[in-house]
Amino acid sequence: MRQFDVLIIGAGAVGNAIAREISKNNMFSIAVLEKEPDTAFGISGRNSGVLHSGFNNKPGSLMAKLCVQGSEGFEREAEALRIPFKRTGKLVISRYEEDLERLHKLKEQGDANGVRELRILYRKELAKLLGYETGIAALWSGMTGIFDPFLYTVALAETAATQGTQFFFGRQVSGIVNKGTSEEGFVITAENLSSGLQETYQADVLINSAGLSADVINRMLGLNDYSIFPCRGEYHILDKNLSKELKIPVYPVPNEREGGLGVHLTPTIHGNLMIGPSAEYLSREQEREDYSVTHDVMEQLSDEGTNLFPGLDLGGCIRSFSGIRPKLLSEEEGGYADFVIEKCEQVPGYIRLIGIESPGLTSSIPIGKMVAEMAQEILNRNRNMDRSNHYRTQESQEKKYSGEHGHSYERGHNKTELSQIQKQGDQKMLCRCEGITEEAVLSAYDRILELGAIPTIKGLKSRTRVTMGNCQGSFCSLNIVELLQDKRLIDPMQLMWNGFESRMFEGRVRG
Ligand SMILES: Cc1cc2nc3c(=O)[nH]c(=O)nc-3n(C[C@H](O)[C@H](O)[C@H](O)COP(=O)(O)OP(=O)(O)OC[C@H]3O[C@@H](n4cnc5c(N)ncnc54)[C@H](O)[C@@H]3O)c2cc1C
Repeated sequence: MRQFDVLIIGAGAVGNAIAREISKNNMFSIAVLEKEPDTAFGISGRNSGVLHSGFNNKPGSLMAKLCVQGSEGFEREAEALRIPFKRTGKLVISRYEEDLERLHKLKEQGDANGVRELRILYRKELAKLLGYETGIAALWSGMTGIFDPFLYTVALAETAATQGTQFFFGRQVSGIVNKGTSEEGFVITAENLSSGLQETYQADVLINSAGLSADVINRMLGLNDYSIFPCRGEYHILDKNLSKELKIPVYPVPNEREGGLGVHLTPTIHGNLMIGPSAEYLSREQEREDYSVTHDVMEQLSDEGTNLFPGLDLGGCIRSFSGIRPKLLSEEEGGYADFVIEKCEQVPGYIRLIGIESPGLTSSIPIGKMVAEMAQEILNRNRNMDRSNHYRTQESQEKKYSGEHGHSYERGHNKTELSQIQKQGDQKMLCRCEGITEEAVLSAYDRILELGAIPTIKGLKSRTRVTMGNCQGSFCSLNIVELLQDKRLIDPMQLMWNGFESRMFEGRVRG
């Protein structure tokens, strides 16, 4: 049995931010268990990538407080994590007279939350800013920004790992025994999805950051007080050419009951344009991780996208995807419940995070700080009681991550860099659409292993943008396999696309 002071379930942005924060002072041994092969495979890799400013959330709520904290000073965090970030600002556009009152209410709400740089713009100013006519008024939010949720989540994990956190991927938590405060804390059982074997872990503090399954983990401790209502949001991703025409995220006035921010247009940090997300509650029988995209919603997105940006060319759609909101209110109830982030009174040592929907990404660093304080308080109290003296267990001291989160953002290259590389001829181009070299892919592969994750095409894609261009991998997917076979001696039959059920190859056609 592996022993840790703190065990976190879930390597999404929130779990990783918590691990990064607790491991900062190098005092405790920390493990993160994640069922997927790699980090950012859950909601943290399936969203709009917007750094919200905090005007959408109810004054006095945790959502409002943590969102504003997350937004303020994010430049410093992005720099520390070495990820690209742009404070673009954002517009919430009112197309009809009847939306005006709600627009003003949003501004008042933002002011009450302490959000800076909010302003109402009217028709002429709006058209001037956007370069085209749409809507009668808008709320301008100067503090909103855009960033890459994959690079962000990976960077948090890598930083936590450099500080001593141990990540265990492909470990699905299936049972928890609470031994009580006076004994040995929690004993957690996880299925190792690679080997098929069961493993056990022991921890004094257990942190449930399992996103869409946070209520399932909660139930493993005998607690039935929360249920998650999964609500899917689908997106179109458009060609980079189109983002030249729209530099600012553009939203409609949200429908309060719908429980989302409405279908919006968001330029991504890499220059694509996204339309979405829709909002569709999944029935209880449906898989809560059913990330399908559906024909009907795709049509709806096209209509709503063109309402906000009449010149939108939907012929430039290169991909569709979906994310799922872990909502704590049902479709009938509608709207938003606040984040649940608390030390659970019934189960000492258990900290739970349930219903971490939007703006969870924006709030993840302040959430990390808040939860780290809770965990440290419990551990220090235990230490004072002299009950546990195994802080920083032998195992975690020995198995320290040797990687360094100093790789910066290994993305594609711009045109000048690209031509220099082609001239040099010493770095072979692997993905022509995004300008990704073989070297960048190999380095990402090595970093995946260094983190303890299991290599997948999706993991390489998240770190480098390989296969994310116009051809969506039809040119480079097989080249990636050949490269890894040649330079890292992988067995192609073992390589997965995006999860344990997605082997790249079924078998050989010729012997
Ligand atoms: C459509 C959509 C758009 C959004 N847009 C934005 C936005 O623009 N800005 C913003 O701030 N927020 C946004 N959000 C919200 C944000 O994405 C989430 O709040 C945030 O990513 C939640 O992170 P997390 O770590 O809690 O969850 P996740 O990233 O889902 O991480 C939880 C992890 O737990 C793992 N897990 C689950 N069960 C188990 C188990 N039994 N054993 C081991 N591991 C387990 C999962 O595999 C997963 O990796 C959006 C969300 C959606 C759905």
